[in-house]
Amino acid sequence: MNVTGEPSFRESVDLMFNRASALMNLSPGLEQKIRVCNSTYTVRFGVRLRGKIETFTGYRSVHSEHMEPVKGGIRYAINVSQDEVEALAALMTYKCALVETPFGGSKGGLCIDPRAWDEHELELITRRFAYELIKRDLIHPAQNVPAPDMGTGEREMAWIVDQYARMNTTDINAKACVTGKPLNSGGIRGRVEATGRGVQYALQEFFRHKEDVALARLSGTLDGKTAVVQGLGNVGYHAAKFLSEEDGVKIVAAIERDGAVVDASGLNIEELKQWIAANGGVKGFPGAQYVEDGASLLEHDCDILIPAAMEGVIHKGNADRIRAPLIIEAANGPITFGADEILRAKGIVIIPDMYANAGGVTVSYFEWVKNLSHIRFGRMQRRAEEARSRLLVAELERLSGDEGLGWELKPNFKDKFLTGSDELALVRSGLDDTMRTAYQSMREVWHGRNDVTDLRVAAYIVAISRVAETYRSKGL
Ligand code: GLU
Repeated sequence: MNVTGEPSFRESVDLMFNRASALMNLSPGLEQKIRVCNSTYTVRFGVRLRGKIETFTGYRSVHSEHMEPVKGGIRYAINVSQDEVEALAALMTYKCALVETPFGGSKGGLCIDPRAWDEHELELITRRFAYELIKRDLIHPAQNVPAPDMGTGEREMAWIVDQYARMNTTDINAKACVTGKPLNSGGIRGRVEATGRGVQYALQEFFRHKEDVALARLSGTLDGKTAVVQGLGNVGYHAAKFLSEEDGVKIVAAIERDGAVVDASGLNIEELKQWIAANGGVKGFPGAQYVEDGASLLEHDCDILIPAAMEGVIHKGNADRIRAPLIIEAANGPITFGADEILRAKGIVIIPDMYANAGGVTVSYFEWVKNLSHIRFGRMQRRAEEARSRLLVAELERLSGDEGLGWELKPNFKDKFLTGSDELALVRSGLDDTMRTAYQSMREVWHGRNDVTDLRVAAYIVAISRVAETYRSKGL
């Protein structure tokens, strides 16, 4: 139990697991083996900074090694704890199984306020933390592959891969030891925005299924729907930007650290993001109403609520007041177990985290494969594809010409058709396919069984059965 009287994050994940596993036919031994966290390594290390030695505490938790490498981000935040990394590692196991990325689940964290240190200091701290994990194979292309999470990004991943390469000078696959790297360090196009893109694709897929939309007491398409986003970090910013710029969703409120801004006609997310970068918060953003009590906006009237900040923001204390009929969990664990019960009783449809934010690890998987194959996706086939398309266009032009059938080609058809798929196009296609397929596997369970009434239980059932299958075929 934590101070609010609710279970801790890890307990909350376990309770959600139990709710699903109670509906499955697993032997009690196997059920427990899947639920428990295999190991959590705690490290305390010192770094000489500003003339004195600072001690930092970090974790790398491995939840399940039914497939290796294990995968999951490294978080930098002051309140990182063993309970939190274990909860997040468990979610990684289920997430990877659900979206069929061939990994076990892991997560790391460092207790640090990244804003309290300058770039050079952060590099020293990150390299030292990476050193501690690398020497125990807790960062390794075949065993444990971290990625960005809250408080980390491309920059930290570049330091980590360089540290690994220095310590493993003959490892030809060194670049695959971590994902979410910048392009020049072995990254892949489309990784930075992948989680936000995945949230967009998840909502697009949800709205393709009219019966599901009706269960959320909504109708029609995404176009014109209103949404509230909590957190304009990497995930929330990209999700809100794509949904508003490409799908016609109106972001009527955005909640940030210093409060929230509200605009019934829809916020311009790009301008808001620039405002935050220049001013340190949302306060004063022109044309929008500022509300100091940001969290109260979670209870704002809207069609879609997008918690994209951190765990436990929707809890027993506010769940009853949530008005959005549809919630998509862009963050990991934003709804506590207790809140989940209240929201379900109210008939609110929740698109669960392990599915909704799986875009990040999906594109991480593509990056890892790229690193291991040592070639950019599309490099071999792109021009061959274009050459074949050119042949077809030439033939169509002949047929539509004076001596042909008199057809007319649409003005931009030629340009669009002639462009072969580059890395970004392939990454998007792979991500879109993954999000569609995973949604369909959840929905089959959701609608196919009388005892399953929500997407979260459906997601757990799909994930747990896949993990169980792997254990069974290994002979465990
Ligand atoms: N930290 C992200 C997550 O929670 C990405 C993990 C990864 O790419 O390995 O899913």
